[in-house]
Amino acid sequence: MDSSTAADPISALRDGDAAQTDAALEILSRVFGYDSFRGDQAAIIDQLAGGGDAVVLMPTGGGKSLCYQIPSLLREGTGIVVSPLIALMADQVAALEGVGIRAAFLNSTLDFHEAQAVEQQLLAGELDLLYMAPERLVLPRTQQLLHRAQLALFAIDEAHCVSQWGHDFRPDYLGLSVLAESFPTVPRIALTATATEATHRELTERLQMQQARHFVASFDRPNIQYRIEPKASPREQLLRLITTEHEGDSGIVYCLSRKSVEQTAEALVARGIPALPYHAGLDAAVRQDHQERFLRAEGLIIVATIAFGMGIDKPDVRFVAHLDLPKSIEGYYQETGRAGRDGQPSTAWMAYGLGDVVNQRKFIDTGEGSELFKRNARSHLDAMLALCETVTCRRVQLLRYFGQDSEPCGNCDTCLTPPSTWDATVPAQKLLSALIRLDRERGQKFGSGQVIEVLLGRDNPRSAQSRHEELSVWGIGTELSEKQWRTTLRQLLARGVVEAEGEYGVLIPGPNSPAVLRGEETVELAVDRAPQRAARGGGRRAAGGSRAADSLEPAQLERFEALRTWRTSVASEKQIPPYMVFSDATLVGIVQARPTTVSQLGGVSGVGAKKLAEYGEAVLEALPE
Ligand code: ADP
Ligand code: ZN
Repeated sequence: MDSSTAADPISALRDGDAAQTDAALEILSRVFGYDSFRGDQAAIIDQLAGGGDAVVLMPTGGGKSLCYQIPSLLREGTGIVVSPLIALMADQVAALEGVGIRAAFLNSTLDFHEAQAVEQQLLAGELDLLYMAPERLVLPRTQQLLHRAQLALFAIDEAHCVSQWGHDFRPDYLGLSVLAESFPTVPRIALTATATEATHRELTERLQMQQARHFVASFDRPNIQYRIEPKASPREQLLRLITTEHEGDSGIVYCLSRKSVEQTAEALVARGIPALPYHAGLDAAVRQDHQERFLRAEGLIIVATIAFGMGIDKPDVRFVAHLDLPKSIEGYYQETGRAGRDGQPSTAWMAYGLGDVVNQRKFIDTGEGSELFKRNARSHLDAMLALCETVTCRRVQLLRYFGQDSEPCGNCDTCLTPPSTWDATVPAQKLLSALIRLDRERGQKFGSGQVIEVLLGRDNPRSAQSRHEELSVWGIGTELSEKQWRTTLRQLLARGVVEAEGEYGVLIPGPNSPAVLRGEETVELAVDRAPQRAARGGGRRAAGGSRAADSLEPAQLERFEALRTWRTSVASEKQIPPYMVFSDATLVGIVQARPTTVSQLGGVSGVGAKKLAEYGEAVLEALPE
């Protein structure tokens, strides 16, 4: 799907350059071992290779890296990749070297001599790709260096970091606007998996990409099953998810606070599930170590704050769980998008409750920041709440948020088990009346707990002291239980019928309350569902098995396991993550093809020339008869 506007007729002509397309395909097959391009990859590569600029919006796992890696190989000189992720550069470079690409990075982890050696390689034309962080790139010294080198292109990865409206803003990215002026003849490509129109517009402007072609892919991630359930005892719910559906899988669990990260990781370990914590309060070295272990191990769970994950390209993360409400749909989509980059079935699961809504509102109201910032934060949160409380397809709602239309997906909880709804107009009116009476007749505002006590007419010291039993609203809500009231309140908050205000999260009538009070608007709410199991029929698998192998017969499974064992030993010997040797999908391909010669093995998707030369014989040996 190319929503582009060809900027100039020359680049439009170059689109059809058959020789260039052949050269790109040859690299795809020889270097990466794949036989066809996905989506817009071929068109993007053409655009860059022909000297044009491109803005690429593609979901995680869509295949963005090839879009700048292949043009860097096609063009003379070195491709400069700008990325904020210093901690991951070494792995990215190792993966490229693994397929025979000459790559290096320049960042603060190198000492003076190492950095100098890389600079020499660059000047000598010995690098296909060079990674660096934006703060390094804009240094006058680096700029001078780059002017002396031959450059194939600039790739600006995670380009949404330049957007102040978004959720990952990095001031250093603003400096990248100089590239357009300092290197007018070097093609530039900006890439991101964040796709709101606001972000798209802002990054185009700030990076001066108005002349670029824009490629906006579908943001659907059909292999991810989206589920959001009411929060009861979140750690137990998480355990149930893992033990019933994701035993032995790699996963990421997101929590809001450092404390709950620690406690959740401990709770998992106590139940025999390997898990590590990750948050900004841990030592940098510990964080780096946990991240590396997560990348290298199979079946390890990382419990993290949102400080974790950008740029993590582990392909076989099978689930992403949120124990707290994310602050925005952009954040949620990016975090859940870390599941299933390999295209295999994966789960995005969240537990969400009344407390989340009240707390997040409180954070915003009492937090730092300008009124504009707070207004932005509130509208982000409102969109997130609407997603949580929707009674229709979650995927339709998610994609609509990114400006894309779609049909109900059949692979989210609301599609699989459509929630039943009930008319909550009268309870909503009772609740609003209670808030109004308490305020008018007693001058009091309360949080959810005490308001529900009043509705249920339950005696407590606070009510006794304020003579609440004399109010007309005392005990008018006994048709609902306390739990039902909490559910109702949560949904009314999400719909703006009620609002939580200030430091204590006291309830006040919301912007949508007048119409409800006047009876002009009915309130249809969903009945909370009990926590549910996955509906895709994939229950437990053989211990340690991988979902990628679900399609295999028993005899094939045995070969798959043999290859995995071989892969583990190679990976630990070379100290690289197993997926850098071969992905699960490639192992499955090998098992299915049952090659008996090296050249047959070379025909399997994901086996390029360098890996074939390096591992070919060993794979054939490791493959049982
Ligand atoms: P992104 O950066 O968009 O999240 P990646 O570039 O990491 O995605 O690609 C995701 C996965 O898809 C990687 O394992 C990559 O090797 C694989 N991939 C990319 N393009 C192709 C293709 N044309 N054919 C097969 N696999 C591909
Ligand atoms: Zn759906």
